[in-house]
Amino acid sequence: MLPINDLARHNGPLDGEIRVAIDRVLQRGYYILGPENQAFEAEFAAYLGVAGCVAVGNGTDALELALRALHIGPGDEVVTVANAGMYAGTAIHAVGATPRYVDIDPASMLLDVSLLPAATNDKTRAIVVTHLYGRMADVEAVVAFARPRGIAVIEDCAQAHGARRNGKLAGSVGDLAAFSFYPTKNLGALGDGGAVVSSDAGLLARLRGLRQYGWTSKYHVGMAGGRNSRLDEIQAAILRCKLPHLDGWNARRRAIIARYNAGLSGLGWQLPPAPGEGDVGHLYVVRAPQRDAVRAALTAAGIASDVHYPVPDHQQAALPMQASLPVTEVAAAELLTLPCFPELTDAELDQVIAACRQTVQGGQP
Ligand SMILES: *Cc1c(COP(=O)(O)O)cnc(C)c1O
Repeated sequence: MLPINDLARHNGPLDGEIRVAIDRVLQRGYYILGPENQAFEAEFAAYLGVAGCVAVGNGTDALELALRALHIGPGDEVVTVANAGMYAGTAIHAVGATPRYVDIDPASMLLDVSLLPAATNDKTRAIVVTHLYGRMADVEAVVAFARPRGIAVIEDCAQAHGARRNGKLAGSVGDLAAFSFYPTKNLGALGDGGAVVSSDAGLLARLRGLRQYGWTSKYHVGMAGGRNSRLDEIQAAILRCKLPHLDGWNARRRAIIARYNAGLSGLGWQLPPAPGEGDVGHLYVVRAPQRDAVRAALTAAGIASDVHYPVPDHQQAALPMQASLPVTEVAAAELLTLPCFPELTDAELDQVIAACRQTVQGGQP
């Protein structure tokens, strides 16, 4: 089966370097929030062009801690999209605030900025902007809307490590940004990991306390709402091996998307926009009518596929919410994710393209 992601192929070439890094941590005997964390935080902040990075346990914790750093809680509303896997929704619920969902632009699948005036009110404390599938949302427009109203902007960069728009990196535009280093992300650990970045010294200081019980100094809980959410030294050391390769991997992802778009034209599918210089091709997602039949045919041809994401946040069984999101709802039934990872060869890509064309056109040329 040709997989959606092949992590052994992805990490294999770094095998030797990763073993050296793990050995270094093993022999140092310092396993939580030590020198590897400090070095990774400094290197990742420098890469993004932000003042600071606070490494945490995973991307959902990063979103939650970003909200806690802003003192967001019960009675507050946080605006976000409903088509991005419910991670932001989970974090918003975790702090006791209420998500307020906005619909998306049908071409980009990203937050529709024109809908923000209707979605915000005097309870709105933050907007979580998700850079979905490796494409940056117009976060500058969101900031221009939010700042005069005293609303904070949190970028969800879990699918956008290294993405750029107007010369700025994803994570450097909003007040805070959350990253995940889940293994399949563009920059992935060999386990869970995450980070919050910011250029606000006060927010960074709060994050450093909140990720570790609310400590302002060891055993002194100076902040309410603290958690235990830290990045292991081994994962930080592995991420340091991988960060220098991120831009090269992202360039290959862009090339994969361009080849898919050329090969899949004329099938009546809605293809993603041509990858701009700043896109990082986290996922290749099309909209295909008869999506489920296409998936079945791909499976029969030995090609894995997936759906990102099948259930909009406001329709999740555990936490259903009233919302009218027609673009999000129609899209959910048509979304189809095809294999996309930097090591995918052109021959494999062409095999996926041929299988898709065969599925839709039968024997027709
Ligand atoms: C993966 C992901 C997250 C959550 O990251 P975890 O590390 O799995 O908690 C958040 N937001 C988006 C958009 C993601 O894709």
